[in-house]
Amino acid sequence: MHKNFKNIDKIVYGKGAFNQIDDILAAKRDENDKFMVFIVDKYFEGKELADRIPAHAEDMVFFEDIDQYEPTTDQVDNLRDKILAEKGVPAGIIGIGGGSIMDIAKALSLMVTNEGSSQLYQGLNLVKKAGVYHMGVPTVAGTGAECSMTAVLTGPVKKLGLKCDWTVFNQAVLDPELLSTVDTNQWFYTGMDCYIHCIEAESGLYFNAYSKAYGDQALALCREVYLGENAGQNLENDEKLMIASLFGGLSLTYSEVGACHALSYGLSKILGTRHGYANCLAFYHLEEFYGDAVNEFKSMIEKHNVDLPQGLSKEWSEETIDAMAEVAYNLPHMWNHAIGLDWKEKWTKEDIKKLYRRL
Ligand code: NAD
Ligand code: ZN
Repeated sequence: MHKNFKNIDKIVYGKGAFNQIDDILAAKRDENDKFMVFIVDKYFEGKELADRIPAHAEDMVFFEDIDQYEPTTDQVDNLRDKILAEKGVPAGIIGIGGGSIMDIAKALSLMVTNEGSSQLYQGLNLVKKAGVYHMGVPTVAGTGAECSMTAVLTGPVKKLGLKCDWTVFNQAVLDPELLSTVDTNQWFYTGMDCYIHCIEAESGLYFNAYSKAYGDQALALCREVYLGENAGQNLENDEKLMIASLFGGLSLTYSEVGACHALSYGLSKILGTRHGYANCLAFYHLEEFYGDAVNEFKSMIEKHNVDLPQGLSKEWSEETIDAMAEVAYNLPHMWNHAIGLDWKEKWTKEDIKKLYRRL
Protein backbone atom coordinates (compact mmCIF):
# COMPACT_ATOMS: atom_id res chain seq x y z
CA MET A 1 0.00 0.00 0.00
CA HIS A 2 1.32 3.45 -0.91
CA LYS A 3 0.73 6.51 1.20
CA ASN A 4 -2.22 8.65 0.20
CA PHE A 5 -0.79 11.89 1.48
CA LYS A 6 -3.04 14.78 2.48
CA ASN A 7 -1.41 18.15 1.79
CA ILE A 8 -2.18 21.58 3.29
CA ASP A 9 -5.23 23.07 1.54
CA LYS A 10 -3.76 26.56 1.06
CA ILE A 11 -0.42 28.29 1.51
CA VAL A 12 0.38 31.99 1.52
CA TYR A 13 4.10 32.75 1.47
CA GLY A 14 6.12 35.95 1.53
CA LYS A 15 7.16 38.98 3.58
CA GLY A 16 4.17 40.49 5.37
CA ALA A 17 1.86 37.51 4.66
CA PHE A 18 0.85 37.77 8.34
CA ASN A 19 -1.23 40.84 7.40
CA GLN A 20 -3.49 38.68 5.23
CA ILE A 21 -4.71 36.49 8.11
CA ASP A 22 -7.79 38.58 8.89
CA ASP A 23 -9.00 38.46 5.27
CA ILE A 24 -8.40 34.73 5.04
CA LEU A 25 -10.35 34.08 8.23
CA ALA A 26 -13.30 36.25 7.17
CA ALA A 27 -14.69 33.46 4.98
CA LYS A 28 -14.59 30.98 7.88
CA ARG A 29 -16.04 33.04 10.73
CA ASP A 30 -19.62 31.83 10.30
CA GLU A 31 -18.86 28.23 11.18
CA ASN A 32 -19.83 26.48 14.46
CA ASP A 33 -20.19 28.96 17.34
CA LYS A 34 -18.67 31.78 15.28
CA PHE A 35 -15.46 32.68 17.05
CA MET A 36 -11.78 32.08 16.42
CA VAL A 37 -9.18 30.81 18.86
CA PHE A 38 -5.61 32.08 18.57
CA ILE A 39 -2.94 29.95 20.24
CA VAL A 40 0.19 32.10 20.42
CA ASP A 41 3.68 31.43 21.76
CA LYS A 42 4.02 33.23 25.11
CA TYR A 43 7.23 34.79 23.82
CA PHE A 44 5.05 37.21 21.82
CA GLU A 45 2.95 38.42 24.75
CA GLY A 46 3.49 42.17 25.03
CA LYS A 47 5.57 42.23 21.85
CA GLU A 48 4.73 44.10 18.66
CA LEU A 49 3.37 40.99 16.96
CA ALA A 50 0.75 40.54 19.68
CA ASP A 51 -0.82 43.87 18.67
CA ARG A 52 -1.03 42.69 15.07
CA ILE A 53 -3.02 39.51 15.84
CA PRO A 54 -6.35 40.04 14.05
CA ALA A 55 -8.55 38.89 16.95
CA HIS A 56 -12.15 40.16 16.94
CA ALA A 57 -14.12 40.91 20.12
CA GLU A 58 -15.71 37.45 20.18
CA ASP A 59 -12.40 35.60 19.70
CA MET A 60 -10.19 33.96 22.33
CA VAL A 61 -6.42 34.48 22.48
CA PHE A 62 -4.20 32.18 24.55
CA PHE A 63 -0.53 32.91 25.08
CA GLU A 64 0.88 29.45 25.78
CA ASP A 65 4.12 28.82 27.62
CA ILE A 66 5.94 26.01 25.86
CA ASP A 67 9.34 26.58 27.46
CA GLN A 68 8.89 24.28 30.47
CA TYR A 69 7.73 21.23 28.51
CA GLU A 70 7.01 20.20 24.96
CA PRO A 71 3.23 20.10 24.32
CA THR A 72 1.38 17.61 26.50
CA THR A 73 -1.93 15.81 26.21
CA ASP A 74 -3.02 17.52 29.48
CA GLN A 75 -2.26 20.95 28.08
CA VAL A 76 -4.43 20.29 25.01
CA ASP A 77 -7.23 18.70 27.07
CA ASN A 78 -7.30 21.67 29.45
CA LEU A 79 -7.44 24.21 26.64
CA ARG A 80 -10.20 22.23 24.93
CA ASP A 81 -12.27 22.01 28.15
CA LYS A 82 -11.90 25.74 28.76
CA ILE A 83 -12.87 26.74 25.21
CA LEU A 84 -15.91 24.43 25.06
CA ALA A 85 -17.10 25.51 28.52
CA GLU A 86 -16.72 29.24 27.89
CA LYS A 87 -17.76 29.65 24.27
CA GLY A 88 -18.54 26.37 22.56
CA VAL A 89 -17.06 24.99 19.34
CA PRO A 90 -14.83 27.52 17.55
CA ALA A 91 -15.04 28.30 13.84
CA GLY A 92 -11.31 27.88 13.64
CA ILE A 93 -8.00 27.62 15.49
CA ILE A 94 -4.88 29.56 14.55
CA GLY A 95 -1.47 28.53 15.90
CA ILE A 96 1.20 31.26 15.88
CA GLY A 97 4.58 29.92 16.99
CA GLY A 98 7.05 27.12 16.40
CA GLY A 99 6.43 23.40 16.13
CA SER A 100 5.17 23.28 19.71
CA ILE A 101 2.43 25.84 19.20
CA MET A 102 1.50 24.48 15.78
CA ASP A 103 1.14 20.99 17.25
CA ILE A 104 -1.08 22.32 20.04
CA ALA A 105 -3.26 24.10 17.46
CA LYS A 106 -3.49 21.00 15.28
CA ALA A 107 -4.38 18.71 18.19
CA LEU A 108 -6.84 21.22 19.61
CA SER A 109 -8.67 21.50 16.27
CA LEU A 110 -9.36 17.76 16.54
CA MET A 111 -10.09 17.69 20.24
CA VAL A 112 -12.91 20.28 20.14
CA THR A 113 -14.96 17.74 18.18
CA ASN A 114 -13.71 14.44 19.62
CA GLU A 115 -14.61 13.28 23.11
CA GLY A 116 -12.27 12.21 25.91
CA SER A 117 -8.58 12.84 26.42
CA SER A 118 -6.20 13.47 23.53
CA GLN A 119 -4.24 10.48 24.94
CA LEU A 120 -6.87 8.25 23.35
CA TYR A 121 -5.93 9.48 19.89
CA GLN A 122 -2.13 9.25 19.97
CA GLY A 123 -1.40 7.02 17.01
CA LEU A 124 -2.42 6.58 13.38
CA ASN A 125 -6.02 7.21 12.31
CA LEU A 126 -7.53 6.90 15.78
CA VAL A 127 -9.40 10.23 15.56
CA LYS A 128 -13.09 9.60 14.95
CA LYS A 129 -14.49 12.92 13.67
CA ALA A 130 -13.17 15.74 11.50
CA GLY A 131 -11.89 18.69 13.52
CA VAL A 132 -12.48 22.40 12.90
CA TYR A 133 -10.72 24.70 10.42
CA HIS A 134 -7.11 25.39 11.48
CA MET A 135 -4.27 27.60 10.36
CA GLY A 136 -0.53 27.34 11.09
CA VAL A 137 1.71 30.40 11.28
CA PRO A 138 5.32 29.34 11.95
CA THR A 139 7.57 31.80 13.78
CA VAL A 140 10.67 29.59 13.84
CA ALA A 141 11.52 27.38 10.88
CA GLY A 142 12.56 23.76 10.54
CA THR A 143 10.15 21.27 12.05
CA GLY A 144 7.86 20.90 9.04
CA ALA A 145 4.94 20.86 11.51
CA GLU A 146 3.30 23.40 9.18
CA CYS A 147 2.68 20.61 6.64
CA SER A 148 2.92 17.28 8.45
CA MET A 149 -0.08 15.10 9.22
CA THR A 150 0.89 14.70 12.84
CA ALA A 151 0.44 16.72 16.03
CA VAL A 152 3.13 15.46 18.40
CA LEU A 153 2.08 15.37 22.06
CA THR A 154 3.74 13.95 25.15
CA GLY A 155 1.35 11.94 27.29
CA PRO A 156 1.88 9.98 30.51
CA VAL A 157 3.07 6.93 28.56
CA LYS A 158 4.33 8.12 25.19
CA LYS A 159 5.50 10.97 23.01
CA LEU A 160 3.48 10.28 19.89
CA GLY A 161 1.49 12.20 17.32
CA LEU A 162 -2.22 12.36 16.64
CA LYS A 163 -1.86 11.38 13.03
CA CYS A 164 -4.61 11.47 10.42
CA ASP A 165 -5.74 13.45 7.36
CA TRP A 166 -7.73 15.85 9.55
CA THR A 167 -4.60 16.86 11.45
CA VAL A 168 -3.15 18.69 8.44
CA PHE A 169 -3.61 22.46 8.46
CA ASN A 170 -6.24 23.94 6.14
CA GLN A 171 -4.06 26.99 5.76
CA ALA A 172 -0.38 27.80 6.29
CA VAL A 173 0.79 31.40 6.50
CA LEU A 174 4.54 31.52 5.84
CA ASP A 175 5.84 34.98 6.64
CA PRO A 176 9.67 35.00 6.83
CA GLU A 177 9.64 38.30 8.72
CA LEU A 178 8.33 36.45 11.78
CA LEU A 179 11.66 34.62 12.13
CA SER A 180 13.74 37.73 12.78
CA THR A 181 13.63 37.53 16.59
CA VAL A 182 14.66 33.88 17.00
CA ASP A 183 17.93 33.57 18.93
CA THR A 184 20.91 32.01 17.19
CA ASN A 185 20.97 28.71 19.07
CA GLN A 186 17.24 28.13 18.51
CA TRP A 187 17.54 29.18 14.84
CA PHE A 188 20.22 26.52 14.52
CA TYR A 189 18.53 23.70 16.47
CA THR A 190 15.15 24.06 14.73
CA GLY A 191 16.77 24.59 11.31
CA MET A 192 18.80 21.43 11.86
CA ASP A 193 15.56 19.56 12.49
CA CYS A 194 14.88 20.23 8.80
CA TYR A 195 18.39 19.27 7.72
CA ILE A 196 18.21 16.06 9.76
CA HIS A 197 14.71 15.22 8.44
CA CYS A 198 16.12 15.29 4.89
CA ILE A 199 19.26 13.30 5.74
CA GLU A 200 17.25 10.69 7.62
CA ALA A 201 14.60 10.53 4.88
CA GLU A 202 17.25 9.72 2.29
CA SER A 203 19.10 7.19 4.48
CA GLY A 204 16.74 4.28 4.61
CA LEU A 205 14.20 1.87 3.27
CA TYR A 206 11.32 4.21 2.46
CA PHE A 207 13.27 6.76 0.41
CA ASN A 208 11.84 7.37 -3.06
CA ALA A 209 11.78 9.96 -5.87
CA TYR A 210 9.01 12.01 -4.22
CA SER A 211 10.96 12.29 -0.99
CA LYS A 212 14.21 13.00 -2.87
CA ALA A 213 12.78 15.82 -4.98
CA TYR A 214 11.69 17.81 -1.93
CA GLY A 215 14.61 16.70 0.22
CA ASP A 216 17.27 17.75 -2.31
CA GLN A 217 15.78 21.23 -2.55
CA ALA A 218 15.47 21.56 1.22
CA LEU A 219 19.08 20.44 1.73
CA ALA A 220 20.33 22.89 -0.91
CA LEU A 221 18.50 25.71 0.89
CA CYS A 222 19.86 24.62 4.30
CA ARG A 223 23.38 24.62 2.86
CA GLU A 224 22.94 28.18 1.60
CA VAL A 225 21.50 29.33 4.93
CA TYR A 226 24.11 27.68 7.16
CA LEU A 227 27.21 27.39 4.96
CA GLY A 228 26.75 29.71 1.96
CA GLU A 229 28.53 33.01 1.28
CA ASN A 230 25.73 34.91 2.94
CA ALA A 231 25.26 32.34 5.74
CA GLY A 232 23.57 33.47 8.94
CA GLN A 233 20.39 35.09 10.15
CA ASN A 234 19.04 37.62 7.68
CA LEU A 235 15.79 38.12 5.81
CA GLU A 236 17.00 36.48 2.62
CA ASN A 237 17.98 33.36 4.53
CA ASP A 238 14.77 33.40 6.55
CA GLU A 239 12.87 33.29 3.25
CA LYS A 240 14.91 30.25 2.29
CA LEU A 241 14.69 28.50 5.64
CA MET A 242 10.92 28.81 5.72
CA ILE A 243 10.68 26.96 2.40
CA ALA A 244 13.37 24.47 3.41
CA SER A 245 11.24 23.60 6.44
CA LEU A 246 8.16 23.08 4.28
CA PHE A 247 10.02 20.97 1.72
CA GLY A 248 11.81 18.99 4.43
CA GLY A 249 8.42 18.19 5.92
CA LEU A 250 7.10 17.15 2.51
CA SER A 251 10.16 15.00 1.90
CA LEU A 252 9.52 13.30 5.19
CA THR A 253 5.82 12.65 4.64
CA TYR A 254 6.84 10.32 1.87
CA SER A 255 9.73 8.73 3.75
CA GLU A 256 10.57 8.32 7.44
CA VAL A 257 12.95 9.54 10.11
CA GLY A 258 15.44 7.11 11.60
CA ALA A 259 17.99 6.53 14.34
CA CYS A 260 18.50 10.19 15.21
CA HIS A 261 14.82 10.89 15.82
CA ALA A 262 14.44 7.65 17.75
CA LEU A 263 17.22 8.75 20.15
CA SER A 264 15.81 12.26 20.22
CA TYR A 265 12.37 11.02 21.27
CA GLY A 266 13.98 9.11 24.15
CA LEU A 267 15.79 12.26 25.30
CA SER A 268 12.61 14.35 25.09
CA LYS A 269 10.34 11.84 26.80
CA ILE A 270 12.67 10.99 29.70
CA LEU A 271 14.69 14.20 30.19
CA GLY A 272 12.40 16.79 28.60
CA THR A 273 15.12 17.79 26.11
CA ARG A 274 13.70 20.03 23.34
CA HIS A 275 13.23 18.36 19.97
CA GLY A 276 15.63 20.29 17.73
CA TYR A 277 18.33 20.41 20.39
CA ALA A 278 17.90 16.71 21.18
CA ASN A 279 18.29 15.89 17.49
CA CYS A 280 21.53 17.85 17.35
CA LEU A 281 22.89 16.11 20.47
CA ALA A 282 22.25 12.72 18.87
CA PHE A 283 23.14 13.50 15.26
CA TYR A 284 26.66 14.58 16.24
CA HIS A 285 27.44 10.95 17.16
CA LEU A 286 25.72 9.04 14.37
CA GLU A 287 28.40 8.88 11.72
CA GLU A 288 27.82 5.19 10.98
CA PHE A 289 24.22 6.01 10.08
CA TYR A 290 24.65 9.35 8.32
CA GLY A 291 28.29 9.43 7.12
CA ASP A 292 29.52 12.72 5.65
CA ALA A 293 26.39 14.58 6.66
CA VAL A 294 27.65 14.42 10.26
CA ASN A 295 30.86 16.20 9.23
CA GLU A 296 28.87 18.81 7.34
CA PHE A 297 26.70 19.28 10.43
CA LYS A 298 29.81 19.76 12.58
CA SER A 299 31.09 22.43 10.20
CA MET A 300 27.78 24.29 10.56
CA ILE A 301 28.06 24.18 14.36
CA GLU A 302 31.53 25.59 14.15
CA LYS A 303 30.59 28.31 11.69
CA HIS A 304 27.79 29.62 13.90
CA ASN A 305 29.42 29.02 17.27
CA VAL A 306 26.45 27.02 18.48
CA ASP A 307 26.30 25.53 21.98
CA LEU A 308 26.32 21.74 21.81
CA PRO A 309 27.67 20.21 25.00
CA GLN A 310 29.40 16.83 25.06
CA GLY A 311 29.85 14.34 27.87
CA LEU A 312 26.25 14.60 29.03
CA SER A 313 25.87 10.85 29.51
CA LYS A 314 28.38 10.94 32.39
CA GLU A 315 25.61 12.48 34.47
CA TRP A 316 22.97 9.89 33.50
CA SER A 317 22.19 6.89 35.68
CA GLU A 318 21.85 3.41 34.23
CA GLU A 319 18.07 3.68 34.83
CA THR A 320 17.87 6.90 32.81
CA ILE A 321 19.76 5.41 29.88
CA ASP A 322 17.63 2.30 30.10
CA ALA A 323 14.41 4.30 30.10
CA MET A 324 15.52 6.38 27.10
CA ALA A 325 16.55 3.24 25.20
CA GLU A 326 13.14 1.71 25.95
CA VAL A 327 11.41 4.74 24.38
CA ALA A 328 13.72 4.70 21.36
CA TYR A 329 13.42 0.93 20.85
CA ASN A 330 9.64 1.20 20.76
CA LEU A 331 9.62 3.25 17.56
CA PRO A 332 9.66 0.36 15.09
CA HIS A 333 8.73 2.49 12.05
CA MET A 334 11.96 4.47 12.52
CA TRP A 335 14.15 1.35 12.85
CA ASN A 336 12.37 -0.34 9.93
CA HIS A 337 13.46 2.61 7.84
CA ALA A 338 16.97 3.05 9.29
CA ILE A 339 18.03 -0.60 9.49
CA GLY A 340 15.51 -2.70 7.57
CA LEU A 341 12.41 -4.76 8.27
CA ASP A 342 14.57 -7.40 9.95
CA TRP A 343 16.05 -4.80 12.34
CA LYS A 344 15.12 -6.80 15.42
CA GLU A 345 17.59 -9.48 14.34
CA LYS A 346 20.39 -6.93 13.98
CA TRP A 347 19.69 -4.33 16.60
CA THR A 348 19.01 -4.45 20.33
CA LYS A 349 18.21 -2.14 23.19
CA GLU A 350 21.85 -2.62 24.26
CA ASP A 351 22.99 -1.13 20.94
CA ILE A 352 20.77 1.88 21.54
CA LYS A 353 22.17 2.29 25.06
CA LYS A 354 25.67 2.34 23.59
CA LEU A 355 24.66 5.23 21.34
CA TYR A 356 23.25 7.18 24.30
CA ARG A 357 26.50 6.67 26.21
CA ARG A 358 28.37 8.54 23.44
CA LEU A 359 26.43 11.73 24.09
P1 NAD B 1 9.34 25.51 19.70
O1 NAD B 1 7.99 25.77 19.15
O2 NAD B 1 9.44 24.48 20.76
O3 NAD B 1 9.97 26.87 20.20
C1 NAD B 1 11.31 26.93 20.62
C2 NAD B 1 11.64 28.24 21.27
O4 NAD B 1 11.63 29.29 20.29
C3 NAD B 1 10.64 28.67 22.33
O5 NAD B 1 11.35 29.21 23.40
C4 NAD B 1 9.82 29.74 21.64
O6 NAD B 1 9.28 30.65 22.56
C5 NAD B 1 10.86 30.38 20.78
N1 NAD B 1 10.35 31.12 19.61
C6 NAD B 1 9.51 30.70 18.65
N2 NAD B 1 9.35 31.65 17.71
C7 NAD B 1 10.12 32.70 18.08
C8 NAD B 1 10.40 33.98 17.51
N3 NAD B 1 9.90 34.36 16.32
N4 NAD B 1 11.23 34.81 18.19
C9 NAD B 1 11.79 34.42 19.37
N5 NAD B 1 11.58 33.23 19.94
C10 NAD B 1 10.75 32.38 19.30
O7 NAD B 1 10.38 25.15 18.53
P2 NAD B 1 10.36 24.17 17.32
O8 NAD B 1 11.71 23.63 17.23
O9 NAD B 1 9.78 24.84 16.13
O10 NAD B 1 9.33 23.04 17.71
C11 NAD B 1 9.67 21.90 18.47
C12 NAD B 1 8.41 21.10 18.70
O11 NAD B 1 7.88 20.69 17.45
C13 NAD B 1 8.58 19.85 19.53
O12 NAD B 1 7.55 19.80 20.47
C14 NAD B 1 8.47 18.72 18.53
O13 NAD B 1 7.93 17.55 19.08
C15 NAD B 1 7.54 19.32 17.51
N6 NAD B 1 7.70 18.77 16.16
C16 NAD B 1 6.58 18.49 15.46
C17 NAD B 1 6.65 17.98 14.19
C18 NAD B 1 5.39 17.67 13.45
O14 NAD B 1 5.46 17.18 12.33
N7 NAD B 1 4.24 17.92 13.98
C19 NAD B 1 7.89 17.79 13.57
C20 NAD B 1 9.02 18.10 14.30
C21 NAD B 1 8.92 18.61 15.59
ZN1 ZN C 1 12.05 16.41 13.76
